[in-house]
Amino acid sequence: MAIWTPDMRERLKTLAEMDMKYTEIAAVMTAEFKTRLTKNAVIGMAGRLGVPPRNIKYAPARYTPRVFTSRKKPVDGYALEDLASHHCRWPKGDGPPYSYCGQTIIPNGRPYCFTHATLAYPALRSSR
Ligand SMILES: [Zn+2]
Repeated sequence: MAIWTPDMRERLKTLAEMDMKYTEIAAVMTAEFKTRLTKNAVIGMAGRLGVPPRNIKYAPARYTPRVFTSRKKPVDGYALEDLASHHCRWPKGDGPPYSYCGQTIIPNGRPYCFTHATLAYPALRSSR
């Protein structure tokens, strides 16, 4: 697994914006950064950086490929897109896809339920 430095991330974004193919980006960056990058590593990082997918020849023009975003629903709690403004936004889980607590928030302008507000802002506990 290649280590992605901030410089490499910036370079990847720049090259992708130039409409370069992922295979070419991998070759260019392998040479420039004296590391070994595969096309798949470049595609993976591009997805994480939010670079729009390209170079997908099999996709019809109107079809928007979803291969770079995880749409897996969390097993418990609420998915981000299911949250309403009164739902607690405390994230659960160790990594994406995160789920969220979803309890009703306390009316103090913070996006957490009472339990998570006291976790997030310990000062609240002593003021009550
Ligand atoms: Zn909560």
